[in-house]
Amino acid sequence: MTLFTFRGVKSHGWTFYDHIKFDMNSNALLDSQGRSVRYIRISVTDRCNLRCQYCVPSADFVNLGHDRILSYEEIVRIVRIFAPRGVTSVRITGGEPLVRKHLERLVTSLSEIPEIKDLSLTTNGILLGKSARALKSAGLSRVNISLDTLKPERFEWITNQSEVAEKTSLDDVLEGLRASREAGLDPVKINVILMRGFNDDELMDFVALTEENEFEVRFIEFMPIGHNGFWTADRVITADETISRLNSFCDGLESLGKGRGAGPARRYRFPGHRGTLGFITPISSEFCVECNRIRLTSDGHIRTCLFSDVETDLLAMMRNGCTDDQVVAAVEKGLTVKPRGHNISKTGHQPTCARTMSHIGG
Ligand code: SAM
Repeated sequence: MTLFTFRGVKSHGWTFYDHIKFDMNSNALLDSQGRSVRYIRISVTDRCNLRCQYCVPSADFVNLGHDRILSYEEIVRIVRIFAPRGVTSVRITGGEPLVRKHLERLVTSLSEIPEIKDLSLTTNGILLGKSARALKSAGLSRVNISLDTLKPERFEWITNQSEVAEKTSLDDVLEGLRASREAGLDPVKINVILMRGFNDDELMDFVALTEENEFEVRFIEFMPIGHNGFWTADRVITADETISRLNSFCDGLESLGKGRGAGPARRYRFPGHRGTLGFITPISSEFCVECNRIRLTSDGHIRTCLFSDVETDLLAMMRNGCTDDQVVAAVEKGLTVKPRGHNISKTGHQPTCARTMSHIGG
């Protein structure tokens, strides 16, 4: 429960933000800025069945062995420790989470934790056609499907099909989208990174997906993280630029404010469309002041910020027999150095980040 908030004022070189909320839950996991942790993103594997140009390292990258990955039991233990301390949302991600066997077993166990009210999945959608129904039955509420192009030949190129063992196609993802809707996962969001010169000419094709379908198509600003050979400042298209392009194509784009769930998206809709558009703006408008999330990497490290390499190794602690209280104490210590903001910008400072997105869990 919120007790009070600060107004945003600048004074003596310090900025006090009006979003900072103090939590009356005395057990709450708080960082040194007073932000409480409500949301954990869990990477269940560093493996992926795609090799996206901007995300996954090249073929000679060695994946972690099975024994260096958290077991489902260890993941559930961590969430059980955090849940009474205010964590209510869990997102399963990767790597590609659906390449890990029996993911529905993890979903079932997490959905049985009473405090967890929101259980979601981020996936490339390739394997969803086969698994959406089982995941929904196991207790998954909603899904985000990453899809950067609606053109088959571009899909083949951006996902680097020449380097993957088992070839897949855009049709597999479209089948995953359809299966998710049919299974009753709600909402189904489509994550698109707009990259100048690659897919920005498809903007209205993505908008068209919202005409007949209740999808939320979310445009994410391209971040300088991951397999960065592909990132350049020129490729970044900010939300403002995208919105102004949309306004030049069509009248009536209406702002809907913030979206469902714990995310930072600004939402819009075209009149008469069943679905919505969302904009995630890590580059043009940092939302760190509202950050309520931590990440658990597939090898069991807690990262309090996507862009900070300061990590707490829970896997080693747990395998050495630590208590739940020791886990909490270690995470609280990590939270004391959670950065106030990442300060990345389109042309300016770029964070150094030793891990790839596929390792951290996007
Ligand atoms: N394999 C799953 C998928 O494709 O959704 C989950 C992992 S993937 C790392 C999660 C998300 O991170 C995807 O939506 C991907 O597009 C996004 N991502 C990866 N690199 C990114 C970057 N440099 N900037 C913005 N988003 C990025």
